[in-house]
Amino acid sequence: MKKNAGKWQQTITRIALILFFMLVFSGEHHVAGENAWDIKKIEKRIFTDSEYKEVLEAFENEKETIQSDNPSLYFYLSGVNYLVQNDFHEAYLSFEEALASSYEAGQSEMEFAALKQLVMLSDFYADSGKLIEYGARLIDLAEDQDDAEMKMYAYNVIALSFYYVANDEKVVEYLEHMFSLAREEDNLAYEAIYQTMMGQILYSYQDIESAIELYEEAERVLQMTEENDAGDLKLFNRASHLLAKSNLTEQEPEALLKEMEQLIIKTEGQYNNTVKLWVLYLMKGQMEEHFHFYDAAVTSFEKSKELTQKIKHIEDTINPLRHVSVLLARAYYNNGDFQEAADLYISVAEMDEDPANLMKVDEDASKIRSFTERGLTDEISSLTTLQEAQERVVLQQRIMLGTFVLGIFLLSRAYILKRKEHLKVNELKDKLYVQSITDSLTGLYNRKQIFKILNTKKQDCTVALIDIDNFKTINDTLGYLAGDEVIKRVVQTIRQSVPESDDIGRYGGEEFLIIFSDKTFEEALAIIEEIRKNTEALAWEVEGMQTTLSAGVSPKGEATAEEVFSKVDKLVHEAKRTGKNKIVFK
Ligand code: GH3
Ligand code: MG
Ligand code: MG
Repeated sequence: MKKNAGKWQQTITRIALILFFMLVFSGEHHVAGENAWDIKKIEKRIFTDSEYKEVLEAFENEKETIQSDNPSLYFYLSGVNYLVQNDFHEAYLSFEEALASSYEAGQSEMEFAALKQLVMLSDFYADSGKLIEYGARLIDLAEDQDDAEMKMYAYNVIALSFYYVANDEKVVEYLEHMFSLAREEDNLAYEAIYQTMMGQILYSYQDIESAIELYEEAERVLQMTEENDAGDLKLFNRASHLLAKSNLTEQEPEALLKEMEQLIIKTEGQYNNTVKLWVLYLMKGQMEEHFHFYDAAVTSFEKSKELTQKIKHIEDTINPLRHVSVLLARAYYNNGDFQEAADLYISVAEMDEDPANLMKVDEDASKIRSFTERGLTDEISSLTTLQEAQERVVLQQRIMLGTFVLGIFLLSRAYILKRKEHLKVNELKDKLYVQSITDSLTGLYNRKQIFKILNTKKQDCTVALIDIDNFKTINDTLGYLAGDEVIKRVVQTIRQSVPESDDIGRYGGEEFLIIFSDKTFEEALAIIEEIRKNTEALAWEVEGMQTTLSAGVSPKGEATAEEVFSKVDKLVHEAKRTGKNKIVFK
């Protein structure tokens, strides 16, 4: 049974998101002007649901005037009217009209409003072709209007369109665009949409724990928003959270189902609630299946089926009735009603054989291809990915028959593993980088790196080379390992005196190069002298042992890295020749 959860979750995700979108856009815009028919004002009133009725009654009374004064508004409100009457087909045609006439009239707010409604409908039918079309249009509009919120919405629509062709890498990519913009803009609702949507994706990979974490994160974010700004976002994030929890065996069925019921009751009190209830019953049924309450699951899915039958659907779409039918058939089967189950499966098979559905898949793929050709994203899927996606869409359609579900899951899992591996590779790369510039014995920069740093330095820095005196003798008398310990202690001594802001590298076995970037020559010299003294004063366990060092110090001046190094090297030699345990400088 769990096998199906992911694909069903897609349905739920999109319904949830439709509603999120509407809500997100309801609260944030300020109502402009005195005009009662201002589109922002209307959206605010209908999306908060309480005033649907009043708006539509007023529209009924003023229809003629509106039709002649503002045709796009007339089409828009007619669409809303059809929507409330569950005539999605006519609603769709009206919103398309509203879109066309607002575009011609240059009414960008109206265009945006119509697009939101069209996205909602296309989303309900999982119509990826339409979604990419509207997404592309929204991107243009957002850029035109320089509107960040519109852009976030556009990214989300594009993410959804990729969702329906199973290109999850692109889904995540666009959600991440959306998220970083949400962070920039400090937009909590979009941050929460990101968390919820990522939660849904993880849920579809059956990574329940991570999904729950994301839903919780969304809840935390949503707590900071105004109740009215995010009501349905809260509702659907919560419902998803409950469904995810029902996957965990240690959860109490009664408490979870009771909360789900309360969400349904609350929604039943709303005016335009068909789609919302449709998805809530789908979720409730799945929860009941997880708890093996098949009888109850049948009842919930039947409710959902009733609701889809109330809707007059858009022509040439993949009917959501099929989704419900598959779930219902399975519930009947699990409940022992084999005849009911068989009849439903047959009806689903008949719906699936409809050649129009398969044609649509082709159309979707070519639309997505033309989207990518517009160069809106540079590295988007190649033709092969599209073909693959196309095959997967066909597969998805077949999923409803229950045979390829596992295959799809394996694909999904492979993807999430890839993502995790990708993260690991990045971690590894970081580690490798650090390793590549560090000396393993001392943790200082290695020769290559300190020389690289020296190359980038300007003339006003001071360079010092330190070489431990008579080091061979230490190695010879105490052994190589003891020699290593001496190196480490001398390095400690060097570190104590050199500020963090300056760079130290291990140039050779017991040779260290120090670059002082923001010290005067005199200050640098004083630090080296301090190191020399401290080294000389080090107490060792071995009787009579003393370690000293010699150093050469020089300002870099006009010299190249090689020239200044050769200079300090010569100075060290001079120090050695003239008695060691000393600093020579010019
Ligand atoms: P001088 O006073 O002239 O500097 O004499 P020295 O003995 O220090 O001579 P030199 O600098 O030529 O010798 C460096 C020695 O350091 C040679 C090499 O065997 C040893 N050495 C190099 N790398 C390491 C290391 O990582 N660990 C240890 N223990 N010894 C090392
Ligand atoms: Mg040496
Ligand atoms: Mg030496």
